[in-house]
Formats: sequence, C-alpha cells, structure tokens
Amino acid sequence: THPNTPDDTASGKYLREFLDEMRPEQIREHLRKFTRLPHLAGTEQNLNYAEQIMKEWKEFGLDSVEMVPYDVLLSYPNKSQPNYISIVDQLGSEVFNTSLAEPVPEGYEDVSNIVPPYSAFSPKGQPEGDLVYVNYGRTEDFFQLERDMGVNATGKIVIVRYGKIFRGNKVKNAMLAGAKGIIMFSDPADYWAAGVKPYPAGWNLPGGGAQRGNVLNLNGAGDPLTPGYPAKEYTYRLGLEDGVGLPKIPVHPIGFHDAINLLKNMGGQIPPNNWKGALNISYRIGPGFTDDFKSQKVRMNIQSNNQITRIYNVIGRIRGALEPDRYVILGGHRDAWVFGGIDPMSGAAVVHETVRSAGRLISKGWRPRRTLIFASWDAEEFGLQGSTEWAEDNAKLLQERAVAYINADSAIEGMYTLRVDCTPSLHTLVYDLTKQLDSPEEGEEGVSLYDSWHKRDNWTDNRDAPRISKLGSGSDFEAYFIRLGIAAGRARYTKNKKTERYSSYPVYHSVYETFEIVEKFYDPSFKRLRAVAQVRAGLIFQLADSQLLPLDVNQYAVALEKYAQSISQLAHRHPEDMNMYKVSFDSLFSAVENFTVAARDFHERLLALNKADPLQLRAVNDQLMYLERAFIDPLGLPGRPFYRHVIFAPSSHNKYAGESFPGIYDALFDIEHSADKQKSWEEVKRQISIAAFTVHAAAMTLTPPA
Ligand code: GLU
Ligand code: CA
Ligand code: ZN
Ligand code: ZN
Repeated sequence: THPNTPDDTASGKYLREFLDEMRPEQIREHLRKFTRLPHLAGTEQNLNYAEQIMKEWKEFGLDSVEMVPYDVLLSYPNKSQPNYISIVDQLGSEVFNTSLAEPVPEGYEDVSNIVPPYSAFSPKGQPEGDLVYVNYGRTEDFFQLERDMGVNATGKIVIVRYGKIFRGNKVKNAMLAGAKGIIMFSDPADYWAAGVKPYPAGWNLPGGGAQRGNVLNLNGAGDPLTPGYPAKEYTYRLGLEDGVGLPKIPVHPIGFHDAINLLKNMGGQIPPNNWKGALNISYRIGPGFTDDFKSQKVRMNIQSNNQITRIYNVIGRIRGALEPDRYVILGGHRDAWVFGGIDPMSGAAVVHETVRSAGRLISKGWRPRRTLIFASWDAEEFGLQGSTEWAEDNAKLLQERAVAYINADSAIEGMYTLRVDCTPSLHTLVYDLTKQLDSPEEGEEGVSLYDSWHKRDNWTDNRDAPRISKLGSGSDFEAYFIRLGIAAGRARYTKNKKTERYSSYPVYHSVYETFEIVEKFYDPSFKRLRAVAQVRAGLIFQLADSQLLPLDVNQYAVALEKYAQSISQLAHRHPEDMNMYKVSFDSLFSAVENFTVAARDFHERLLALNKADPLQLRAVNDQLMYLERAFIDPLGLPGRPFYRHVIFAPSSHNKYAGESFPGIYDALFDIEHSADKQKSWEEVKRQISIAAFTVHAAAMTLTPPA
C-alpha cells in the first residue's frame, strides 16, 4: 500500500509550496553568512552564530525558539605549547618537526582563531619510540600485523592512514595493541582524487592540510562526564580521569607532506600492496627506521587540555495543530572545526532554508498536524554532545512523543548523486518523495531526482531501486535512533561510491572547507543543495502533516528477513561448532516470520481504516510510531548501555558503519580465535534469543489491539 495516500489535498498543495519556496540563491546566502568565521564549539563565535540563528528563526515565523545550554567536556590545544611530532637524534635534538598549522587559504590570512589540526581529547604526553605502520588501523589491519607479519606494537608509536573507519576506532585499536602513541595521516591515495588540483585551484587536500577530529570511544554516551543525564549546572560529574571513552595514549593528525618525512626512512618488512598508499615511499612496517637512521626516534609532543565548556543548542518549534504531542525533528550541528564550508554548514544552510520556507507556509495559514522541532546542535564534533545531552534532557518526552528524527549534517560530500541512510520503515516515503522532486543535474531537466539517483546507484543486490543504506553513526541522529528508538534518516549528495565509502571528501575537517570550495566546485548552482533541502524538508513535512504516518512496516519485515539471513550465514561459516554447541537460528527466523505476517496484516487493516475517526487513526499511528521503540532493549548491548537498538548499532569496529543484529554479530566476531569456544558460543546463543524475542515482541505491537 501507498503509505502517503494523498487523502489530504490541502496538505499536498502546501507540500508543493513548501518545496518550491526553497531557493538555491537563498541557500547560497545562508552558507555565505555562516562560514565567514571559525566557529568551533565552546567559542564565542559559535555562540554568536547561535544567537543569529535564533533571531532569524524567530523572524522566519517559528512559534518559539530557545537557546539550550549544557556544560560538557571539550578539548583544545594549548595556545602557548603547540602540539607537534619530532624526529629526534641520539642526542635528543629535534631533527625534524611537523608543521604547527595548515597554510591558510587566500583571503583568510587575517582570520584569527583558526585552531591548528589536533586530535580532540588526546591526553598530554611526550611518548618517544619507534614507529610501526599499520595501514588504516582497522581491527583486521592489527590482526594482520600481529598474526601474519609477527610484529608487536607494544611500546611503539603506531602510524596509520586516515580513512575507511572512524578515527576513534583506530585509536582504540592502537591502545589495545599496547602502543604508546598514535599518529594519523592523510594519504593521497585516500584524500586526493585523480586529475583534481589541490585547493584553491581544485578540491583536493593540499600536502599541508590535515584532518582534525575527536578520538573518543563514547559508545553513545554524549558528554564524557555525565553519561545518562543532561550536563546541567547541578549535574554530578565524573572525575576527569573517569570520563567515558577518553583515549589513554597521545594522538595527533598530520598531512602527507609531514607524513613523508616520518615514513620515508622506516625499516622492517615491506607490506602487502593493499597497505601501500600513493606516496613515493615503500611503506615499510617498521618497527623503527632503517639501519642508516636506526638511532633516530619519533617523539610526540601533545599539550592539549580537556575543559568543561558551555555549549548551546538552538531549538525552534512549530506547534502541531491537531497532534501537538507528536514530534517530528529536523536537527543538524552548527559547530565546525574551522569555517565549516561543507561540514556542517552546507547542512545548516539547508535547515535554515527549510525553516524560512516553513515560516512562509505559516504566514499563509498553514499549520502542521504534528509539532515540528528544528535543532541547531552544538559540539557534534566533540562526540555528538549537544544532540545527546538534549536527548538525555528530554528522553521521557521523546520516548513517548517522537515520531521521527531527520538528520541534517553536511548536505554534500560529492558531485554525483543522492545518498540516503534511514530506518527501513522510511524507505517507501523516501522513494515516493524523490519521485516528486527534480534532478539537480545539468542536462537532466524534467528527470526526477528518483530516476537520476536510480540510474547512478541501483540497489542491484536487493531490488531494482536506488540504494538506501542502514544508518551507522558519527552524526547527531545517534542518540535518537540507537538509544531512544526513534525512526530516523539522513540524506545528502555524495560522490560515486565505487570509490571510497568512509573516507569522506579530501578537505574534510581541514581549514580548506570554505564557502568557496562549495561555490566553485561542489555545487556552483546550489541546485544540489536545494535538492537535498527538498528531500530533508519533504520528509519532515510528510511525517508531520500526513493524517496517517508515512511509515511502511512491511519494509521493516523485508529488512529483518535480509539481516537474519545474513547473520545466520555468517554463523554457518562454522558448521562443526554450530553442531557441537547446538546453535540454531530457528527462533529468529520464526520471529521474523511472525513480524512479516503482522506487518502484512497491519497494512491490510489500514486499507479499511476509517480515517474520519480520530481515535482509530491515532491508534494505528501510535502503533507505527512505537514500532521503532519496540526494538529497544533497556539493558543495551553488551558493554554498550547506550546502544539499545537490537536491530541496528554502530559497528564495534567502525562507528560510521551500521551493523545489523549487532549483538549476534559481535558475539560471532573472530570466534575462531576465542580462548573459550564453549563460552563464546553460549553468548552467541544468548544473543540469538534476545534478537528473536525482540523481533517477536515488536511484531506483537503491530497486531490488533483487541
Ligand atoms: N562527525 C564527527 C566526526 O566524524 C563526530 C563523530 C562522532 O563523534 O561520533 O568526527
Ligand atoms: Ca550527559
Ligand atoms: Zn565533522
Ligand atoms: Zn558534521
């Protein structure tokens, strides 16, 4: 069935007006205005932008806009003792030092408060020792290093290239391997597109550019000092030593000009080809330098400070006309490492334009059926802190009332096509909506966004439709989806994914993320950003204004079946063990079957629903809204109490990636090397039973109330 039957023609007319009101030129202006100055979380300028956004959202016509502060743990370099890495000779003299800052792009020479590249939350320290190169620093890279190459990183300084996974996972892996420091560098193989010039002539990362970023392993905690509770003035705080997810070894990022100097004289084994980047060096594993340079060591000098700092979310509202106690949220962060030309302001500009357009509709007499909430989050870059603290603050309301959360981080990371990650029940809405939107591409006049996207990224392995992926994490939807169980989604313009999936775009988190890089290269017409604006805005409009919630639970059944198949196949790589320990997926498949039947029957009953009866309508809408909530296990996943969604979690090996049936997946991971097979398979069985119960219980919420 069509989840958004246009039963409400007035709503349909307003949707068209809402989407048509959004203008490329306006998005351009918003982006220009909010990227003039650096606005790192916790700085005065980021508060200035918050105040400006609050003022303009009020002028646009929102019913209310408030500033919501929290006091959270952030991290900054020490202004008088800069962070850098040295090569030191046997006398301890520094024979090479990495750069203290990125070369500032033309036109920005007089800008102050550009924070140099650093790894936020690195502890202070001056570890000195030999380097070991571990490719991307992934779990499998460390396995290969230790098991295949026989190299031990204990007591060494690990050097890894950026890319493929969230940097916090690299740091965790280095810590577990016993390293005493970790250096991350941007290799041209991952941050340099062929045939493209470095910024400002093109959009590649210059050799002096480096990627900032937090290196926490929060597992959904938000502020490291107040896990579970909002970081208000009266809130009890953990000691700085006990903060959640803080790394225990110094960490620092560098660009490839500096990396060449650290890597070029390394000795030890020559690595496999897939460990070699694009620098003109041999990428030896180490440990340490070749014989000629044996006496030289590497020393990290890290002086950053962790500091409790005030941050500010801006929260705007349009009160729902008929169901004010049902919330649809559009949220994205405002804080940036420097100017935030792409991350996050391309997204924030889109939210700003959405609010402007919504305000125009309000002035024409429109009011959504449900309440719309707009959020400008702070301190996302420091571990999703603003969004998570607000989720903690409002958890009781949100778990009862939130219908959906749409995320609005960077709206563009490439020039190729649309990219959508969302909960399965939103798939149908995304497809229906994109069929009503225009492709932003030159020469595709009259082509729908759906067709343009479909042509470029077909979901071949599954069905003939554009690809939609699972949600992972690494942005502000995390607390809403993974902790609270609110249906969620994100959409942005992306690159051709036959290249890298998680290496983002070349200038990511560097000073070169300017307004101009978007205007000159990523989206000169600002039509791609408008297309993304129309997707994000169209989603919240339909979710807030449709009589019947546009959620398709049949799609959840399809996804569950697929995930159950795939996790069971993974387990069946160990047929003898499965047999020996009597491991069966029957209960899970049977639960998925129950769910499939319940979903089908539910949608069938919807056809007969009397939409004129507000109680009937509200009852089925509540079933739809609470379905995502039913996948929450209050106990959370093992060791990750804030990751409570049984179907989806950020991968334990890469926060950016989503894992389905994560409890089972983690229990099975590397089980062939487990010290206690019996115990490990018992945990697999326990996780299968939790998954089966949860899916079954969720299915029951879809059955008739009586
Ligand atoms: N989006 C930020 C990053 O990728 C923060 C992610 C996070 O802390 O989860 O660095
Ligand atoms: Ca907290
Ligand atoms: Zn970012
Ligand atoms: Zn971002």
